[in-house]
Amino acid sequence: MNVLVINAGSSSLKYQLLNPDSGVLLAKGLCERIGIDGKFTYKAEGKATKDAVDVPMPTHAEAIQAVMDALTDSANGVIGSMKEIDAVGHRVVHGGEAFNKSVLITDEVLKAIEDCIPLAPLHNPANLTGIRACQKVMPGVPMVAVFDTAFHQTMPARAYMYALPYEYYENDKVRRYGFHGTSHKYVAGRAAAMLGKKPEELKLISCHLGNGSSVTAVDGGKSVDTSMGFTPLAGVPMGTRSGDLDAGILQYVMNKYGLSIDEMLNVLNKKSGVQGVSGVSSDFRDLTDAFEKGNERAGLAVDMFNYGVKKLIGAYAAAMGGVDAIIFTAGVGENSAAQRMAIASGLEFMGVKMDADANKARGKETVISAPDSRVKVLLIPTNEELMIAMDTAAIVK
Ligand code: AMP
Repeated sequence: MNVLVINAGSSSLKYQLLNPDSGVLLAKGLCERIGIDGKFTYKAEGKATKDAVDVPMPTHAEAIQAVMDALTDSANGVIGSMKEIDAVGHRVVHGGEAFNKSVLITDEVLKAIEDCIPLAPLHNPANLTGIRACQKVMPGVPMVAVFDTAFHQTMPARAYMYALPYEYYENDKVRRYGFHGTSHKYVAGRAAAMLGKKPEELKLISCHLGNGSSVTAVDGGKSVDTSMGFTPLAGVPMGTRSGDLDAGILQYVMNKYGLSIDEMLNVLNKKSGVQGVSGVSSDFRDLTDAFEKGNERAGLAVDMFNYGVKKLIGAYAAAMGGVDAIIFTAGVGENSAAQRMAIASGLEFMGVKMDADANKARGKETVISAPDSRVKVLLIPTNEELMIAMDTAAIVK
């Protein structure tokens, strides 16, 4: 079975063609500058990589057509015809409270995704455009929507409610939704496989640490709490996002500098986080380099991030009444041995004992805690596209 996975942005579209059963990736690439001019990148396994080429893409439909042409190209293609694509899996950012799992896309589903636009005004419209473009170019091929929020719909009310007037929840759906759900679900499943246990038997803390970061408590295979909130702005400090803060700061700073709420939100989303604290970069590699050259603020930014993750691990262990394994994933979690060590050290009191040698690993599934560590610490590369393909296959089959 072949599943085409689509992640559509407002002017870009990432794609992968995968076999969900074997996990084999056949081809992947990126369409950029849709609606402007159009740049197309394509990489097929076992074939020469090509540089980005200009392909006119007035709309997402031309972008999808370019993907089809490349996948079925006689020289560099990987399939004979579009008939060899059994289904399409679409990443959709926000499913609100309407979706607690992936679903086959129907007219009703499209309408429900549309209804979630106020909750994700930048992302859901782009995701919908991607779905409609695919329907136009690939009529009759079953399509599935996989939501970033769905995995977290199992959170109990005490975890998802904000202590605001109840009407904001009842009338306006203001609550914690959480994001990165596809990634947390994937690594939680892999963790169970690595530990030879059923998901129902495990209490896990999944740390998705990248440019955007979130930590999730997974009890018995279900998300029971997560650090991102109503929007992806909440939780630990991120590349450029502030993470949690005292809302009283908004009034103080907005009054002092005469900022509108949009300007304030722009500061919180784009100029804060480790970028804002360090004044150097949002990229953790740059921060490590800068700190090694004596930049104290770069060191402080990384320290604040690591401390934020460590605090959540403690909090979620308390919330679940224990933890069997802690998972590190995404750019920082998969690659930065120093940050993993900084986060996990000091947690010996709760049964975490790292193995410094094992922790040198990068980008592969492995146990990085000591053999006698009561709590296992796992490095698991995330694979959201494979998770989307697996969900899509399960629904279509
Ligand atoms: P992601 O959003 O998952 O792609 O992660 C991007 C983040 O991972 C960036 O801040 C990178 O600096 C960080 N990253 C990638 N490789 C490393 C590394 N070797 N050490 C530290 N951070 C890394």
